[in-house]
Amino acid sequence: MPNNKVDILLVGAGVMSATLGTMLSRLDPSLKIMMVERLGKVAQESTHSLNNAGTGHAGYCELNYTPQKADGSIEINKALAVNAGFEVSLQFWSYLVEHHVLPTPHEFINSIPHQNFVWGEQDVTFLRKRFELLSKHHLFEEMEYSEDPAVLRKWMPLVMANRDPKQIVAGTQVKQGTDIDFGSLTKHMIKSLKKHPNFELMLGHSIENLKQQSNGHWKVSVKDRHTDALKTINANFVFLGAGGGALPLLQKTGLPESKGYGGFPVSGQWLICKNQEIVKRHHTKVYGKAPTGSPPMSVPHLDARIIDGVPALIFGPYAGYTTKFLKEGSIFDLLGSVKPGNLKPMMKVALDNLDLTRYLIKGTMQSHKERVAALAQFFADAKENEWTLETAGHRVQIIKHCDHKGGKLEMGTEIISSRDGTLAALLGASPGASISVQAMIEVIEKCFKKQVRTADWKHKMREMIPSYGESLDDNETLLGAVRTKTRATLGLIKK
Ligand SMILES: Cc1cc2nc3c(=O)[nH]c(=O)nc-3n(C[C@H](O)[C@H](O)[C@H](O)COP(=O)(O)OP(=O)(O)OC[C@H]3O[C@@H](n4cnc5c(N)ncnc54)[C@H](O)[C@@H]3O)c2cc1C
Repeated sequence: MPNNKVDILLVGAGVMSATLGTMLSRLDPSLKIMMVERLGKVAQESTHSLNNAGTGHAGYCELNYTPQKADGSIEINKALAVNAGFEVSLQFWSYLVEHHVLPTPHEFINSIPHQNFVWGEQDVTFLRKRFELLSKHHLFEEMEYSEDPAVLRKWMPLVMANRDPKQIVAGTQVKQGTDIDFGSLTKHMIKSLKKHPNFELMLGHSIENLKQQSNGHWKVSVKDRHTDALKTINANFVFLGAGGGALPLLQKTGLPESKGYGGFPVSGQWLICKNQEIVKRHHTKVYGKAPTGSPPMSVPHLDARIIDGVPALIFGPYAGYTTKFLKEGSIFDLLGSVKPGNLKPMMKVALDNLDLTRYLIKGTMQSHKERVAALAQFFADAKENEWTLETAGHRVQIIKHCDHKGGKLEMGTEIISSRDGTLAALLGASPGASISVQAMIEVIEKCFKKQVRTADWKHKMREMIPSYGESLDDNETLLGAVRTKTRATLGLIKK
């Protein structure tokens, strides 16, 4: 870029930056966009296919999105919001397939039933009530429920094999669930951006510091990680899509909006089976209920996946203790993020979550035998020598200041933006990549307020996301039209 001056600086080459860059370059092709990534390749952290579960989170099977309150009632709002948010992503990806930005859909998205499986009186009652509430809503009308072992054997034969016939069990199924290779999706978006004359990708460079100038622009120092040479980029707008690395960078901005935020890193691991005799017996994603006392990011699930072109089963995630904010991060990340502005909330959360920390440390120390024993609750015949342990990505859960308690731990995603709209950051990791499009719309609406109100941008937003400005939660007819279109374009099954 001439004089290292850019309109948009995207920090990180994961799904979030790739989505924002793709949207902005379509809204205004004259924008000069630069993407800076510290690693040598794109999509190598959380967005990499093996570092996440590849579930198109739509609230169908994630029981943590429908928590049970103390009075026994079930809260479904989060599941509705996630489902509607996922439909927004599907529309944008359909648009990109139609415009040849994304390849044949099966290279990044495939249909796979999303199922739940629970056992015991208490969890069966919970699942039944959850089904009754959700299936009344048009977003979830395709959900099926059964307590009949014969039906469940058809839905999930591997899970039901050699199960105690006296065990009380229940399951739900939505046939139209999806498995997504977010790594492939991201690589294709960036490949297409690279063809644009106003786009530049800088790999192997890390953002070291950011300072806002008196004219509102950002002076950003970038280090070449091979030579240690430093250069400066001047940017009108900066997006910190650095995954776990977003918090430390946000802190460096000195923005008042960054005060009080901290991070709670959690590592993840999977058990993987590539024995094709076993793999061919399971073709769904089966989510269970997180054991009492365990954190929401450890909801166990057994998924059929394709890893490097080879069908495989994965089970997990096994959440563990870490002090690194990125898989390729430093053990000093957590300590380095403690600042006077977030000391109180960090201390409060540390003290309030000693059980969680203990749980995570215990998780890290688990033996292979113990991990396979957890798997055996879903696959009774699991053998230790047929499953190997792989490391997944890291999630940095948000810690934030709150007046009432001093500090709290959040499990969601949050967009923090500066008041003048010149910088935005994405913190948190759930529901994650599945709602990347909704999250980046939020960035655009917060930081490009004037432009997004113009007829030109509104028109382009509706071209990319036909339901833009409408609520799929309220508008059943629109949902029907949108689903028919996206399922046809993305090659996802209808019934
Ligand atoms: C175990 C696990 C399971 C998950 N399962 C799912 C799932 O099933 N479905 C789902 O939708 N989501 C899931 N997620 C969440 C999802 O993976 C993330 O929300 C998503 O990939 C985040 O994308 P990102 O672009 O924000 O971050 P990342 O993909 O982590 O990308 C950030 C990039 O920024 C770079 N970077 C960091 N610091 C700097 C710096 N200073 N300078 C330059 N570059 C920098 C990093 O190297 C990285 O490449 C899961 C996550 C984990 C960890």
